[in-house]
Amino acid sequence: MSCVPLEKQVTYRGSFTKDFPLGEKSWFRCGGSADLLFEPEDIEDLSIFLKEYPKDEPLMVLGGMANCIIRDGGIRGCVIRLGKPFAEIEIHGNKIMAGAGALNGSVAAAAAKAGIGGLEFLSGIPGTVGGALAMNAGAYGREVKDILSAGMALDAYGGFVPLDLEDMDMSYRKCGAAASGDLVFVSAIFEGVEEDKTLVRERLKEIKAKRQDTQPISEKTGGSTFANPTDEELEAAGLEKGTRAWQLVEKVGGRGLKIGGAQMSEKHCNFMINTGDASASDLEDLGDELIRRVREECGVELHWEIKRLGERG
Ligand SMILES: Cc1cc2nc3c(=O)[nH]c(=O)nc-3n(C[C@H](O)[C@H](O)[C@H](O)COP(=O)(O)OP(=O)(O)OC[C@H]3O[C@@H](n4cnc5c(N)ncnc54)[C@H](O)[C@@H]3O)c2cc1C
Repeated sequence: MSCVPLEKQVTYRGSFTKDFPLGEKSWFRCGGSADLLFEPEDIEDLSIFLKEYPKDEPLMVLGGMANCIIRDGGIRGCVIRLGKPFAEIEIHGNKIMAGAGALNGSVAAAAAKAGIGGLEFLSGIPGTVGGALAMNAGAYGREVKDILSAGMALDAYGGFVPLDLEDMDMSYRKCGAAASGDLVFVSAIFEGVEEDKTLVRERLKEIKAKRQDTQPISEKTGGSTFANPTDEELEAAGLEKGTRAWQLVEKVGGRGLKIGGAQMSEKHCNFMINTGDASASDLEDLGDELIRRVREECGVELHWEIKRLGERG
């Protein structure tokens, strides 16, 4: 393995695992390994690691892997995952401070318990706060940028970078601050509104029921495969504004379409699933086939919302 980031005299308290089977742990349950996985013990450990890590070696950070395909050839260099030490959630008035390793569902539940409304949409979005920041995750008309007060990241040299909403530069399923891949989000402050706990809990229940009815949430999936096209893209193709990605997938015969062990869900045709023995290549080939069909038959370019990471096998 070419990647040896550790300065001999530096001691890390977190754990390192060589050839970590990352794909098996992703929501799709397929794909390759990471050369090296680092799980820091705390923020100081992470900061030292970033400072020491050779700048010419590949490095990436992942959260719950609910939004990615880990390609079959695996990921070169080191992958950082922020686990339990980064999962703290604190409530201060209507503000919720959450570590980047906290699950979105736990943040929504903590807000509900404290009688804070406005964060319910997070309950149905698998993954961590770090991933939600990087993706500006959203559902039911709300997205992270609507509830975010501030974020904190470490840069490639381990320095602290406080970020306000403007610095985050968030738009539909995008975060400008994350685009370079040089920042590791370590925490966020979200803000909601004081509300009756029972009402907030009711909304959580409604979201859960809605998800169960409309999405294949018990399957091996990665959420929406493609981002919805913009109105400008739709207009240019002579299509009605507001047309959703799933409608285009449906139009080109995508519902239930299969390549190898990968299939577009019958329940929600913008969700791709691993039916059991899919390789990461099957998943990617299926997505690429749909992009081709939609381009040729509808004149619109669909864009992957799912991140495809690493090397093809
Ligand atoms: C059943 C299902 C339903 C879903 N529904 C929705 C939905 O309604 N709305 C929605 O928006 N998404 C949805 N998703 C997708 C996914 O849940 C979100 O994108 C989520 O935010 C991903 O978080 P994660 O921790 O799993 O990120 P990962 O998949 O691990 O990573 C995603 C990206 O975030 C970056 N990242 C992760 N952590 C950090 C960090 N600490 N610092 C910097 N960058 C980081 C990674 O490098 C990567 O580029 C769904 C997924 C599933 C499986």
